[in-house]
Amino acid sequence: MSLHSLHDYACHACREPYIPFAAGVRCPRCDEAPAETFEEFLEEVRGILELVWHAHGRWVPPANPMSTLGDHYVWLLAGALARAGLEFTMQEDDVAGQAEKAAAQVHLGAKEYLRPHYTAFFRALFPVALHIQRT
Ligand SMILES: [Zn+2]
Repeated sequence: MSLHSLHDYACHACREPYIPFAAGVRCPRCDEAPAETFEEFLEEVRGILELVWHAHGRWVPPANPMSTLGDHYVWLLAGALARAGLEFTMQEDDVAGQAEKAAAQVHLGAKEYLRPHYTAFFRALFPVALHIQRT
């Protein structure tokens, strides 16, 4: 398992880079349906989170030079998990709320249209992170 995600994708209509990580995920910018879906991406990110957590006891890897779009997603998620204080505070019943709060804090600049996309991504993986830290 590598610390790097090899996933890269861009909308074929508007060229917005994003990862269609689940069925039904459409371009966050123009709402075009993706040409393909990368459902294995969530599993890949789970593997990276697991590796980093068990090796370092935290979510953000000690050094993680970003090289792909997938790495960018991992970096955003790791930072959000760290800010959420997941390892200390999160309870089973407020995982979705924590994910939404964390996504609301991501700085997106002019790309505010990405927020619902990242919110869905965080919602998919916060429960996974909670599971990892308990095993
Ligand atoms: Zn698009």
